[in-house]
Parts: sequence; structure tokens; C-alpha cells
Amino acid sequence: MKKLIFTLLFGSSLVLAKVNCVVSILPQKSFTKAIGGDKVSVTVMVPVGQEPHTYEPKPSQMKEISKADLYFTLDVPFEKPWLPKLKNQNSKMKIINVANGIKKIAMGGKEGEENGGLDPHIWTSPKNIKTIAKNIYKALLSKDPANSDFYKKNYETLIAKIDKTDEKIKNILAKTPKETKFMVFHPAWGYFAKEYSLVQLPIEIEGKEPKPKQMINLIKEAKANGVKAIFTEPEFSQKVAKQIAKELNIPVIALSPLNPDWSSNLIKLAKAIAQQ
Ligand code: ZN
Repeated sequence: MKKLIFTLLFGSSLVLAKVNCVVSILPQKSFTKAIGGDKVSVTVMVPVGQEPHTYEPKPSQMKEISKADLYFTLDVPFEKPWLPKLKNQNSKMKIINVANGIKKIAMGGKEGEENGGLDPHIWTSPKNIKTIAKNIYKALLSKDPANSDFYKKNYETLIAKIDKTDEKIKNILAKTPKETKFMVFHPAWGYFAKEYSLVQLPIEIEGKEPKPKQMINLIKEAKANGVKAIFTEPEFSQKVAKQIAKELNIPVIALSPLNPDWSSNLIKLAKAIAQQ
């Protein structure tokens, strides 16, 4: 009897045990859930509506960290100061760099030297999402090999969805001339722009709102390039973008690179650029 109870308890705990994963931003949660399904639980460090560049983890989140098995880092500057603290909180937690294999590009436009000059928004291109997905998949396989078939099937489905998204974007942009410029407040779409031969014109200058003189130059630049819309992120102030848009009589389109529905989000951006 004792043996039976032991087996039941032990067996059930094996069935219920999930791989506890921590990620930095919402799109990573989508990738991790797509592969891990109900075998994983995912905690996101940067809450909805917060801006990752300046975010600081809260004490309650440090508690989550103490239960975590895997931490998926994007290897971006805003995370660097967190990692030693997180590791202190839970030395058993494995930190996986999901950016492994992604070649970072320089921050576009006027962002300048900030962040070592490299663009941290790696998750905005399908090609990079594939690499991120592969890194997450490999980490789940090594943490939980018993469910490898489940992860493999889900991983393949996710890769198919990424390919389909890429195909749709290519079709949408088929008639858009190469090097077409689109104006953004915060330059978060550099990898998307590179993948589809587009150019983003950021309003933000080295992470700050432009000064009046710089505003005049931006308006001139937008006019010269026939910019037809300005993309803003809800996480940032809309004021300057609205002023420039008003001056040019063009719409402001809100689009967050932190949207968990990454596929529809990228397709929405492509459609808006194609209509320019
Ligand atoms: Zn950003």
C-alpha cells in the first residue's frame, strides 16, 4: 500500500511538473508557449505597457525567478544589469541566450552610440524569430527530454507559421520599391527593414525626443521621402509623432514591437508600408 501511494504521488508530480520559464518580453512568451504548450509555464519580466529599455525587475518578480528552471535572455543591454541579480536569486536556473546565432546590426538612423551601437530589437524579423525559436526548442529538449516528441511537433508547427508569415509579407511588399522609407518614433524595426529591403526613419534621436530644430529637419526629411504615415509605439510618448504627422497631414499608426501576436503585427506593418 505504501508503495502504491508513493508511486501515485511520485507519478502525479511527474505529470504535473512544468518547466518554469522566464522571458524578458511578451513576444518571447508567445514563442515559448508555441513550442512548450502546457508543458511550460512562462513568466514575462517586462509587463504590458512598460518600456524594456528602462525597465527594472520588481521584488515580486525576483520570487518568480527563484522557481524558474530556464531564463531566456535576449542578450540586450537593458537585461545585462539584471542577469547577475537573477543568477544570485537562483543558481540552479539555466540562462539561455536566445540571440545565439543572430548577427546584430547597427542601430539605424540617429540612434547613435547608445547600446554599443547595436540594435537590440532582434525579434522583429521572421528570420531572427526562427533562430530564437530554435534556441528555445533546444533548451526545452535538454531540460525535459521525456517530452521531446511533443516539443518537436510544436516547433515544426511554429517554423511553418514563421515561414508563412514571411511569405505573406513578401507578397504584400511585392510592389513596394526597394529602400522605401517608413517613419517611426522609436527605431524598433531595423531587422524587419533589413530583411525586406526597407529603411526606417526614426524620430527619436539617441533615445530622446527631438529638439525644435531637429523637428524641422525631420519634417523636411519626411516630405523629401514621401513618408505617408508615422508608426508609434504605445509604450512611448505620442506627442512629437502627432506634431510631425499634423504638420505633414499624415496618419499616426500605433504598432508595438512587444505585441504578443507577432505574426499579425508584422503583417500589419507590411500592409501599412505597402499602402504608402
Ligand atoms: Zn526598443
